[in-house]
Amino acid sequence: MIKIKPHHFIDIITSFSADRVILKPHHYNHSVHSISKKILENRSSILEIELDADDICQPCIHNIDGICDDKLNISNRPKVPPLKREWNLILDKRWCKRLKIEQGEIISVLEFCKLLNEGSNNLVDIYKENNLENTIKRELNLKKGLRKYLTSNVVYFEEIE
Ligand code: SF4
Repeated sequence: MIKIKPHHFIDIITSFSADRVILKPHHYNHSVHSISKKILENRSSILEIELDADDICQPCIHNIDGICDDKLNISNRPKVPPLKREWNLILDKRWCKRLKIEQGEIISVLEFCKLLNEGSNNLVDIYKENNLENTIKRELNLKKGLRKYLTSNVVYFEEIE
């Protein structure tokens, strides 16, 4: 079982749009690389929807007793709150509403992907405070990542630092 914030799962699927997914650890020490690998290797993985600190956050240097203390650079996005945890919660609540999922729900990776297939249009409604061009690219990459993931067509490399 993987506890995960909806937008973290969606970001991982979006990253599969790249021709080669490189799964190397991030300098924050969070678990995006290892959770991405689990999701890639096992399409039967089961997720638990978590809107607070999830399994990706657990080892992160910004996870302070379950609270994210990271700040965002909002110089080009004045309507985004400066604390990452506040922005994350806004995004996750919007995704929950759109996909009709909720905190604590148990759902398989494939079921989540099915919901995303139906709910990945008009991402401007979810990322309305972000740059429009980036959101259009995000939508295209999410759809491409989903397609590749569901057709087992993702190649990944592990990089050892
Ligand atoms: S949300 Fe915060 S604590 Fe979680 S992985 Fe991102 S930076 Fe780290």
